[in-house]
Amino acid sequence: MDIKNSKALFSNAQNFIPGGVNSPVRAFKAVGGDPLFIKRAEGAYLYDEDDNRYIELINSWGPMILGHNHPEIKEAVIKAVEMGTSFGTPTAKEVDIAEIITKMVPSVEKVRMVNSGTEATMSAIRLARGYTGRDKFIKFSGNYHGHGDSFLIAAGSGAITMGEPNSPGVTTGTAKDTLLAPYNDLVAVKELVDANKDEIAAIILEPVPGNMGLVLPEEGFLEGLRKLCDEEGIVLIFDEVMTGFRLAQGGAQEVFGVTPDLTTMGKIIGGGMPVGAYGGKKEIMDYVSPVGPVYQAGTLSGNPVAMAAGMAMLNYLYKHPEIYDGLEKTGGKLVAGVRATLQKMGLDYSTTHLGSMYSLFFTSEKVTDFETAMSSDTALFGKYFQAMLKRGVYLPPSQFESLFLSTALTEEHIAQIIDANEGALKEIL
Ligand code: PMP
Repeated sequence: MDIKNSKALFSNAQNFIPGGVNSPVRAFKAVGGDPLFIKRAEGAYLYDEDDNRYIELINSWGPMILGHNHPEIKEAVIKAVEMGTSFGTPTAKEVDIAEIITKMVPSVEKVRMVNSGTEATMSAIRLARGYTGRDKFIKFSGNYHGHGDSFLIAAGSGAITMGEPNSPGVTTGTAKDTLLAPYNDLVAVKELVDANKDEIAAIILEPVPGNMGLVLPEEGFLEGLRKLCDEEGIVLIFDEVMTGFRLAQGGAQEVFGVTPDLTTMGKIIGGGMPVGAYGGKKEIMDYVSPVGPVYQAGTLSGNPVAMAAGMAMLNYLYKHPEIYDGLEKTGGKLVAGVRATLQKMGLDYSTTHLGSMYSLFFTSEKVTDFETAMSSDTALFGKYFQAMLKRGVYLPPSQFESLFLSTALTEEHIAQIIDANEGALKEIL
């Protein structure tokens, strides 16, 4: 595989951009080798600057659930651009998207649009603090909620990959209000709540974490958190930036039947444009300025081009609920194929799967939290990543990220990925 153009670009990029990238995991630091510079994408494929083609299992880290360059989204964006790219005023499109979000995610009665998942979670925590008059919140090790200061404590995703789960630059003053619990451990959460009686504003979590690889909530965990929050007057926040509109129209909360007070959203909601949102119970959302005292704003929030892309995406998902069954089947086939290969080769690596999300962990431990995820052999994952790439399959360049499938994947693609997986495992072991 010739990647000389990507190599030259990466070398030059490092002169002007820290590490040559605008988001750390893109640098391939965890897997070695030079990152690919992508020129264009279509359906299930990415094309790099050397015109190599890859079957794509990142999908822009989640947003492209319909595959790349979907005609309805592309058309909506082009039409919006023709009307002007930003006004900084209310627009009809913002009303439309807010309305469809509340239909798809019934726990969201009112919603505020922002520009990223990071902004959504930062704003939701501020709101929960303003609403309850309390300062502390609980998060789970290995969950990632964007790069807001108070979340960079035992953070997942790129923060684990880069070995910086606790970032320098976060003051001890900020860090002391973030309490940490192990995921799936209700007893530990109860102990924390007891030890900080009437001081905890919120419990925030990825209801199905994708940022330490894919981990599933154990039976009763989400229900237990709901009950505890009700008893203690704590705001329960589901961070559905990854899972929202992906696991179901109504996200993980629909799949597991547990209703949070606030939900943070991102990725799919923008159809590939920079969009995030937070929403929930009217009573809490009405604490947001200008009706309430909790301040939050944005020059480009609700941007008309971004809203057009998001609206086209959500409209499509709303009108085609059958895609979720289709994605579950696609994911099921892929995981069954991978598991068959593992069995044939006598390997006991762990897999996790739900709908269009999937992870293969290079550990024999069942992965249920940060600690078990960290038992994975990351050096071996790096070799696996390169061996898959050589076979034309582009995976997230870290053990601690979920794979994201799209509706653009056909049976043929799945068969190719299963073949590549077998070839790659044989090559590296
Ligand atoms: N929350 C979760 C669950 C995420 O997965 C991410 C991003 N991967 C974020 C928040 C932050 O979103 P963004 O990168 O858009 O700021």
